Amino acid sequence: MLAQGCSREGRYAAGVWTNTDLAEALFQLAESHPPGDLRLALLRTAYAVFDHPRELAGSRRLPETAALEVLPALAMLRSCRTPDALSAAAHRLAGPNRLHPNPLRQGFLTAAEVRGAVASPGGPNHRYLRGAAHWHTRASDGAATLEAMARTCMRRGAVWGVVADHTRGLACVNGLDAEGVALQARSVRAWNGRHGDEFWLLHGLETEILEDGRLDLPRSARSGVLLIAAVHTGLAERRDQTGRLLRALEEPGVWALAHPRGRLFARRSGIRANWEVVFAKAAEARVLLEINGFPRRQDLDPTLLVVALEAGCRFLLASDAHHPRHLAFEETAVALAARGGVPADALVNFEPLDHIAASRPDLELP
Ligand SMILES: [Zn+2]
Ligand SMILES: [Zn+2]
Repeated sequence: MLAQGCSREGRYAAGVWTNTDLAEALFQLAESHPPGDLRLALLRTAYAVFDHPRELAGSRRLPETAALEVLPALAMLRSCRTPDALSAAAHRLAGPNRLHPNPLRQGFLTAAEVRGAVASPGGPNHRYLRGAAHWHTRASDGAATLEAMARTCMRRGAVWGVVADHTRGLACVNGLDAEGVALQARSVRAWNGRHGDEFWLLHGLETEILEDGRLDLPRSARSGVLLIAAVHTGLAERRDQTGRLLRALEEPGVWALAHPRGRLFARRSGIRANWEVVFAKAAEARVLLEINGFPRRQDLDPTLLVVALEAGCRFLLASDAHHPRHLAFEETAVALAARGGVPADALVNFEPLDHIAASRPDLELP
């Protein structure tokens, strides 16, 4: 059997396979081949299915980026009706090679599932998002200028935004140093002077949580800045990192904890911590927990969101965009929130600017 990340919604109620099943079959087939062109083509197609915005079962369409040499195998898999039949077909295609599930791919929403979750009534509605938070510019590792990113946020309907480039910690060689932070603060002020009526920009920074839980930004540089603190080192280690996170949550100026687990699709499960203790501390310190919608991150995930909600936490939806196109990833974050049962009033992105400013007298506001 292929590994199947069956959701609580009972995806198999109708007995039809989903893009998760098809992508997983292609991933496993890819991994059953030695490194080479065919393996790469299968992997590319698996990701194309995973990122396709509509369920492919019963549809005639193919993902545009599906590789040509994989089309016969894809046709055979798609002709199956049920997840079991799809699994059996994948085993036939593998021939003498064995297929192996990878647990590091489980528990991630496909683009089609995201689309379904944001369209379902009752959950937070992404059309009413006011704040576009945690995105990058050319000042660190983003692809576009501050202006281009801010304009895209505005076009998407946001009325406030938080740029959050990296600081120069251990993990990001392109991060901002003190001079870069000061320069960016000037750009933010200039934007607000020209366009603040329509879209107010807040200056944030994605700061590094160091090994001992302190941040890589001196306290003197934190005023007027929303710090989104993140672990980027020691992510693959199996030791418990509760202490490191607790120390970071006590740091002055921390507004949110970015991608708390640090998991990556198919690559790593993220850090180990006593999450109940971490979430209780975040609630007490009034630090927001991020719901990172970057499709390969999806962090926090719905299972931990339930625990965090119970601890009394509030949340920040983040696209973690590194390109204007990526700003749409906030919809993945909304889908995760919906799956975790997080209501709109626990999501700071649905609030007007003055609510955010209430606890931060150091911020520059309209
Ligand atoms: Zn990060
Ligand atoms: Zn980031």
